[in-house]
Amino acid sequence: MSVLFAVSEVFPWVKTGGLADVACYLPMALNESGIDVRIVMPAYRSILSQIHEYRVCAETSLPEAGIRYRILQVTLPDSQVPVYLVDIPELYDRPGGPYTDSSGADWPDNALRYAQFCRVIVAMALNQTGLHWRPDLLQCNDWHTGLAPALLKAGGSRLPVVFTIHNLAYQGIFPYELFRSLRLPAGFWSPDALEFYGNMSFIKGGLVYADRLITVSPRYAEEITTPEYGCGMDGLLSNRREQLTGILNGVDYRYWDPRNDTHIWHHYWIDSLEKRRLNKLELQEELGLNRDPEAIILAHISRLTGQKGTDLILFGLADLLPDNDLQLVVLGTGESGFETALLTAASARAGQMSVCLYFDEGLAHRIQASADLLLMPSRFEPCGLTQLYALRYGCIPVVCATGGLADTITDVDDQSLKDGTATGFQFQEPATSSLVTAVRRALAMRRGDARAWQRLVTSAMQKDFSWQNSARGYARLFADLISATPYRPVGRLP
Ligand code: ADP
Repeated sequence: MSVLFAVSEVFPWVKTGGLADVACYLPMALNESGIDVRIVMPAYRSILSQIHEYRVCAETSLPEAGIRYRILQVTLPDSQVPVYLVDIPELYDRPGGPYTDSSGADWPDNALRYAQFCRVIVAMALNQTGLHWRPDLLQCNDWHTGLAPALLKAGGSRLPVVFTIHNLAYQGIFPYELFRSLRLPAGFWSPDALEFYGNMSFIKGGLVYADRLITVSPRYAEEITTPEYGCGMDGLLSNRREQLTGILNGVDYRYWDPRNDTHIWHHYWIDSLEKRRLNKLELQEELGLNRDPEAIILAHISRLTGQKGTDLILFGLADLLPDNDLQLVVLGTGESGFETALLTAASARAGQMSVCLYFDEGLAHRIQASADLLLMPSRFEPCGLTQLYALRYGCIPVVCATGGLADTITDVDDQSLKDGTATGFQFQEPATSSLVTAVRRALAMRRGDARAWQRLVTSAMQKDFSWQNSARGYARLFADLISATPYRPVGRLP
């Protein structure tokens, strides 16, 4: 089976969130299970500056779309997975992030950047770029790749297409004028296609035209068919319920493992948990917190957005940090109002609260290896990887029971403690008071019953969310879809 995996960011080269991790580890796991999976992504400047060797395997054009492009081939680090970089310098070779400039503002030509990317994806899927490779299936991910299923199917292709929703809240919405400027088929301007309340929606291309839809947890798959979580797409997704599947994301335990993590100071496992205290002292030193091995550290490693409930933490600070033996570490970037408020709060709590407003992969690992509680009060959460990493590091998650958080964290109660299934603390309502109550439950156990806490940490660390399970789910779905869709290659797109 061969699969073209189209995505806009891939760890370790470009990462703004969990999507990049998935786009690295899922293809790796699929490759290890025998699938010929190849990634295609834009050749951003930040990637080209990290890659020293590549092979130019195509240099061609799509004249009708005004695109001249090269395809550069590299290999995903520590794997056998080929990665094709779509090199269009005027679109991707620029400073800043993949979606925003250095000040955080969206690139004004994002619609064009990802429309052209999708056109090249389609040409590759149809073996029209000179690579002499034809996938059995196209796997697209999130809005950046949403036009590819639409263009492919509109061109009459029967190539099976799967679209994974990693976060329905990001839809790639652009005004009608941009739709016109992209010179897409006129028929796409319809509520049954890309039109969405008077705008164009990239993600609808995937939601409408892909043969199968996946999202990253079973609970989120249910939720997005409801008005509360559907972001305006609940009607469409309810209609496609039969083709919508929830498959949990996973963890690559070769990279996230406190026994050999190169980012952390002291390695440990369940028989050497005391090393976490040494890591804690190092972290306190690194972040300017009071050095106190007995302090309990709460952590928030996250995009700082309403989705992630950063405001619930901000409003609850007085209740979350009442005592000197409690400390809070925030690592994240996001909405400027939250960033400013966090900095102000931290300056009033020197030594007790540290706020790091940047992206630092190594620090994320070090916090996981040192903190006691990970706060994820998300209002919605498609899957969430941070809580899965926290489990392996014995940093106990405190989560709002939504989406993947509800699916992956088992709440502490008498029964779950007794049978050893407890892994964290859940609360039902995304409200500051609910978060504070859950943190108090956790603190009561942490301070009052050391043996029970150790049992909890031990069972959290032993949970297995490895990618192999998820890859099996994807592989089964791919195989079913391919066998149900006898594929006949068609000619060039109009
Ligand atoms: P999402 O994809 O919605 O942002 P996830 O929990 O699925 O949330 O994945 C977030 C990923 O990004 C995790 O790997 C987490 O460690 C990482 N992360 C988030 N913010 C930062 C940051 N400021 N520095 C380093 N890593 C971060």
